[in-house]
Amino acid sequence: MNSPKGFATRAIHHAYDPQQNEGALTPPLHLTSTFAFETAEAGGEMFAGERQGHIYSRISNPTCDLLESRIATLEGAEAGLALSSGMGAITAVLWTLLSPGDEVIVDKTLYGCTFAFMRHGLEKWGVTITHVDMTDPENLRAVISEQTRVVYFETPANPNMRLVDIAATAAIAHEAGAQVVVDNTYATPFLTRPIELGADLVVHSATKYLGGHGDVVAGLVAGTTEQITEIRLVGMKDMTGAVMAPFNAMLILRGLKTLSLRMERHCVSAQIAADYLQNHPSVRAVHFPGLESFAQHALATRQMSKPGAMIAFEVDGGMAAGVEFMNNLNMIQRAVSLGDAETLIQHPASMTHSTYTPEERAEHGISDGLIRLSVGLEDVADIIADLDQALPRPLHHAAE
Ligand SMILES: *Cc1c(COP(=O)(O)O)cnc(C)c1O
Repeated sequence: MNSPKGFATRAIHHAYDPQQNEGALTPPLHLTSTFAFETAEAGGEMFAGERQGHIYSRISNPTCDLLESRIATLEGAEAGLALSSGMGAITAVLWTLLSPGDEVIVDKTLYGCTFAFMRHGLEKWGVTITHVDMTDPENLRAVISEQTRVVYFETPANPNMRLVDIAATAAIAHEAGAQVVVDNTYATPFLTRPIELGADLVVHSATKYLGGHGDVVAGLVAGTTEQITEIRLVGMKDMTGAVMAPFNAMLILRGLKTLSLRMERHCVSAQIAADYLQNHPSVRAVHFPGLESFAQHALATRQMSKPGAMIAFEVDGGMAAGVEFMNNLNMIQRAVSLGDAETLIQHPASMTHSTYTPEERAEHGISDGLIRLSVGLEDVADIIADLDQALPRPLHHAAE
């Protein structure tokens, strides 16, 4: 009928027609736990999977349905699923895919609670977790085996910004018969679409950029209709019960409408902030995909349409200097989470990644001095000014 619509247009219009909803421009919020069956037989047929329709909001809900269609189209997937949090999404997916005796190969760097779930959750139930540095896909090839059911990674990884080559990694995983699950929270589908590059499932903390306003905790999954149905009925409905509330679905639908606009601005400001930090004499290392000095700059250019807005860096003087710098900030807020309008800063070793032991952090490439910055939507001049007044003055000014 029509040519395929662009990303921003689909984020605003996809799968919703006001004329089917009393002309309401904004999709209705279906605040209902349960749904009435026209007849007893119809209810039975729905339970048997022989008839379409909603039964109960721990299985499906029309407001969540719309959000599920939207994340599916934005990720280039057949279907989507809305869950109560990013961790709800990650755990529902993995509980569905895995059985005792299976192996999951995960990247060395993972968000702290994902790491904890793997290490202390899944292992307890007889699943083997193998950590591999996936910045080189050949490292995966060296260890993957018949027991490997799932290959799991984040790109860019939280918090140290390491990237994984999705296409190369997926090819190796598929050769061995494993499924590829990518946490796309940092990049969002606006910058990277893992399924188009060969991944099987994408998971999101929609709490971050997709919601974008710091007012809701939420998770999303995208994949094939068959897999999403299984995750809905097993991982979500029965094993975790981690359903998204319809009101939260509405907040994420609202956030998605401005995702492309927000990401454009986030990325421009982050590039300016990363350039500033890199040139500051008191800043030791800056990890940002948009910098030419970034170790995986070529992959970033190939795999991400823009560099994103998360920056990891270290201040000279290590952790003590980093803490002092953070305490000196005025506008930038000391807070975990990311992807909000507000610029947020945090210290992974003592905060989001304190689920790792110090030894594990050292082994997994999360240094004690690392600081994570989520560049927000304020005027970039004000973001730079706050960084500038808070950073330590170098002891030896350049002679010029
Ligand atoms: C925040 C985050 C999660 C967890 O999501 P919640 O919505 O907080 O449960 C998972 N992965 C990444 C990369 C995150 O940043």
